[in-house]
Amino acid sequence: MDRGNEDEARAASSPVFSSRLMNAPSGVNHALPVEQGSLHATGLSRAALKRHYMSERGTAQVQETRHGLWLALVVYLLFGVADAMLIPDVSAATITGRFAVAILSLIFMEIVVAARAPSKWSDLVCAVTVVVAYLGWLIPAIPTNDFDTFRFYMYFGTIFMMSANLFFNLFFRLSVATSAAILIIFFTSLAFVPPLEPNQLMVHVLFYLSCFAFTSYVNWKLNQERFNVFLNALEAAHQHDEAEKRGLALERLSNTDYLTGVENRRAVDKRLRDYWNDWQTEAKAFAAILVDVDFFKKYNDFYGHQAGDRCLILVASVLNETLKPLNASVGRYGGEEFIVLSRVTGRDQVMALGEIIRSAVEGLHLVHDQRRDGQAFVTVSVGASYTRPQSGPKLERIINEADRALYSAKANGRNCIRLFNPNDPLTSDDNENIAATLRMAIKNDLVHLVYQPIQNLKTGRVEAVESLMRMKMIDGTPLSPAQFIPVAERTGAILDLGLWAIRRACTEVLATGVAPMASVNVSAIQLKSRGFALAVSTILEETGVSGSQLAFEITEGIDMEGQSDVIRCITDLQALGIRIWLDDFGTGFAGLSWLRLFPFDTVKIDRSFLQDARRPAGRAMLEDIIRLIRNRGLKILIEGLETADHVELMHELGIELGQGYFLGRPVPIDEVRIKPFPRLASVGGR
Ligand code: C2E
Ligand code: CA
Ligand code: CA
Repeated sequence: MDRGNEDEARAASSPVFSSRLMNAPSGVNHALPVEQGSLHATGLSRAALKRHYMSERGTAQVQETRHGLWLALVVYLLFGVADAMLIPDVSAATITGRFAVAILSLIFMEIVVAARAPSKWSDLVCAVTVVVAYLGWLIPAIPTNDFDTFRFYMYFGTIFMMSANLFFNLFFRLSVATSAAILIIFFTSLAFVPPLEPNQLMVHVLFYLSCFAFTSYVNWKLNQERFNVFLNALEAAHQHDEAEKRGLALERLSNTDYLTGVENRRAVDKRLRDYWNDWQTEAKAFAAILVDVDFFKKYNDFYGHQAGDRCLILVASVLNETLKPLNASVGRYGGEEFIVLSRVTGRDQVMALGEIIRSAVEGLHLVHDQRRDGQAFVTVSVGASYTRPQSGPKLERIINEADRALYSAKANGRNCIRLFNPNDPLTSDDNENIAATLRMAIKNDLVHLVYQPIQNLKTGRVEAVESLMRMKMIDGTPLSPAQFIPVAERTGAILDLGLWAIRRACTEVLATGVAPMASVNVSAIQLKSRGFALAVSTILEETGVSGSQLAFEITEGIDMEGQSDVIRCITDLQALGIRIWLDDFGTGFAGLSWLRLFPFDTVKIDRSFLQDARRPAGRAMLEDIIRLIRNRGLKILIEGLETADHVELMHELGIELGQGYFLGRPVPIDEVRIKPFPRLASVGGR
């Protein structure tokens, strides 16, 4: 066995090293080239193995040898007692020799330990000690007069052989050399003792020789065995490591989004639960930020799915790169929606993170010229929410809040950030219930329409009815549109409800000829939604109603400047013959620019102006507004006529169209009675 094998064998025999191999496979593998296949098969470099072993065994091996030496020397000194009893005439000299050897040997060993010398030096000290210890006893003992006893006592020399081969954990060659030295010394010493009978001599020589052969053989076997154990341990460690690596790879795979490489929904959900637990137990706040790629469907449709995938990959990686240094995680939450989770300290930090996300994606300058909203690059809308002391005991809630914020970001023109506002009264628990009810409202017959007449004040004819939505909760509690319409807009339920209302007005009023014309209130969100005009034309076709019988009332609550989507939609609707009315004129912030932007047919002046008209300044204001609209050549309808005085005022101002409780309250379809009125009349009570 060469020196390398000896090292390996010794490595295996070192409990410290073997257990490290078994328990800490990563430590082994960083140092050793054992990536593939079995150790035997790869023929692991002996030199590498040796280097690694030498660095690993170091102090542990030295300490083990040191303790063995201490123990051996104690036994060696105790044998001084045997000297005194068996060969008393020379025992003073042998005992002195024993002490001298023990002290010197310990001094050397301690020097080796203190110098942190490699283990080969402690091994050498041991080997030399064994030889010197034998000499240290033999030389002073030879002159004894009690030769008979000494002759038998000499057999103990084989103990030294055994310690070299079996007791100390020396290299095979060193231990064999040491026991060979003992053998030679023994043979030499025979020349200095009184001659033995030839038979006796033969017994001595044979005993020593067979002892040498036997212990060397056992030593060799032992070393081989240790080597195998070592190899097995290495291999086991290697396999353990491989299995662990496979396990890790599998886990990574199961937590990674296949397309973008960021965390997938599964991983996100787990992280969310962890964050939530930390929030519940340690009050560690965190933010959930939803990031949605604007007009992604358009991008996909126009540039193709491959480009769409590439877009998502680029967005994911820019988010990952930007947010990783900030300790925020990125996951894919759905098609083109990502979620960012991060521990935060408060509102400002969440907003700052949102802005980082928004500008990082904008900074990609990924061309997207299909969006028709004045922007030419891919952008994202960002909705965020974060844990607050009053955020309630549910994890889903925070995601729900972020979702609502995202919705609001989208509704407000996209490429912007919205933070969920807990002080917004529209986000109370009641609204959660409303949102849930809205989802099943149509199916469960919880909604219906009421109709309010719109009258020509000059002829007294009802020229149209405005359809107004009514909804009740499951327990029958009625809700006003002021309560449920904003929730429907926020959750997107308005899209289905809005189409339902149009269809219902067509079938109930227009297809049956109950009124010549009907107006339906339409939210800006509906106008922004894809395919709205197409859905309306389908309804017209299916109900057999002409577009010219229908008017859509649009409120000016939202800034739609630059919303080319909406302009296009309105143009499409007008092409179907549908009139577009501007509702609640004067209450929004963009009234005048709206008049400039859209070719409205009729403008409905908000009832607040009518109430103010009692005062001269209010009346002047109303007159100004009327003049402004007339100058643009648009028809005027005044809402909220509650008294005969109001109607009188309309005559004075020359207003043709009016609507209000005085003329008729909103009523269900079966209460709508439309007859020509001589001048002023009601169509019934509410
Ligand atoms: P709006 O479009 O301005 O509708 C007129 C509101 O004023 C109605 O309230 C109507 O009942 C009320 N009103 C009518 N005449 C008078 C009057 O003489 N005096 C007073 N004080 N009020 C009068 P309603 O039905 O509660 O609707 C409130 C708002 O809800 C509507 O305002 C409209 O913006 C929205 N809305 C109603 N139905 C729908 C719908 O189907 N779709 C959409 N998107 N919004 C709707
Ligand atoms: Ca209206
Ligand atoms: Ca109105």
